[in-house]
Amino acid sequence: MTNQNRILIIGGGQTAAYAAKTIRENSESSKITIFSEENFFPYEKPPLSKDYLKGDRDFEKLFFFEQKFYKDNKIDFINNKRIKSVNFEDKKIFSEDNENYIYDKLLLANGASNRKIDIPELENDKNIVYLRNKNECDDLKKKICNANEILIIGGGFIGLEVAASIKSANNVVHIIEMNENLMGRIIPKNISDIVFKIHEERGNKIYLKTKIKQIQKKDSYYDVILSNNVNLKIDLIIVGIGSVPNTEIFRGTNLKINNGVETNNYCETSITDVYAAGDVSNFFHPVYNKHIRLESYTHAQNQGISAGKNIVGIKTSYEDIPWMWSDQFDFNIQLTGICDDYDTVIKRGDNEDEGIVLFFIKNEFIVGACGIGKKGKIGKDIKIASRVADKKIKINKDIISDKSFKLNKLLR
Ligand SMILES: Cc1cc2nc3c(=O)[nH]c(=O)nc-3n(C[C@H](O)[C@H](O)[C@H](O)COP(=O)(O)OP(=O)(O)OC[C@H]3O[C@@H](n4cnc5c(N)ncnc54)[C@H](O)[C@@H]3O)c2cc1C
Repeated sequence: MTNQNRILIIGGGQTAAYAAKTIRENSESSKITIFSEENFFPYEKPPLSKDYLKGDRDFEKLFFFEQKFYKDNKIDFINNKRIKSVNFEDKKIFSEDNENYIYDKLLLANGASNRKIDIPELENDKNIVYLRNKNECDDLKKKICNANEILIIGGGFIGLEVAASIKSANNVVHIIEMNENLMGRIIPKNISDIVFKIHEERGNKIYLKTKIKQIQKKDSYYDVILSNNVNLKIDLIIVGIGSVPNTEIFRGTNLKINNGVETNNYCETSITDVYAAGDVSNFFHPVYNKHIRLESYTHAQNQGISAGKNIVGIKTSYEDIPWMWSDQFDFNIQLTGICDDYDTVIKRGDNEDEGIVLFFIKNEFIVGACGIGKKGKIGKDIKIASRVADKKIKINKDIISDKSFKLNKLLR
């Protein structure tokens, strides 16, 4: 083995797992090492706010690959090892326990962290919780059992999924969202209005355009006054106010940071031999002709694969059409493409149980689609929309609203 083959990966999540697998599939001789601050081999994160939180799925079922996979493929996986800094000039990374490691190629796959709420007096309070990993989920599960009145700060994907998963006959879940709509940044208003209705019908209380005005910790509860002057007595507070890419360990280096680690469409960063992928990367997307940062399961996997190929010299442009989903109660929400630059919106379906999909169209091309429906009702349409967008097929706007028209005809 030559010294050109030392490939280090910072972060041990989905992106890292798929990048390592791809590197091994294409290069027998590479020496691959993954550094993870967590105590587990890479596992799926989406169930943490869904089935695993509800207790419907065992943790053992969440691993992408069994432990044996890493051994069989000679992927050195180092758990409980947090990397604290990188010296890109010397091609060295440093861990918190003061070890250092030399790389020939480096992949930054260290994800994102939850944005912290700015209430200094309650900063380390144990009943104000966040959700990003297994340990936090296990902690949350225990705390929910003893909480009757729960406040979720943030009506985004994670907050709403948690709100749906933890709702029981014995608790009241309040959700506050400072914007006018739930999941407002990426979901169209028509769909977020339906999500609002679904939650309220099932007993969750949602307050839009609302913030915390005052919060006081009492002996056994929090006395919370909202900006709309509603007074709540809360046992447990769950914060889901977005995330920030984990770039702090690159501070003081020349690495180009701009809402994450900036890369081109080959996962290459501003520094030679350094790549980034997954939640931490803000990558150039040739289809949209701009940089985007995504936090989604398929993206983590596919960009990890793309990074792996590029690292071993198989030049691969990553330009997948974004896709993500959310499950709340018995409903499924899906989003594909980018729905922020369009001239027409076409609605297909008018009953959320049977599925409603909105197509975002620009100059007769689908640029994105977003839908909601009972499980299994919208997936096909969204998938076709994604393929039509990817293949840049011109569509007839008038026909796709007709539910009797089979969308896959667009692909022929
Ligand atoms: C609760 C939850 C629910 C989600 N639900 C959905 C969903 O329904 N649909 C969907 O499409 N997507 C969902 N996602 C998003 C999806 O899971 C992420 O986009 C994906 O996990 C990103 O993978 P990643 O490998 O880039 O980052 P991560 O999975 O975050 O992995 C990064 C890893 O690096 C570790 N790390 C960070 N810094 C260091 C360091 N300095 N040294 C060593 N290790 C470090 C972190 O601890 C972490 O283990 C969800 C995410 C969460 C947290």
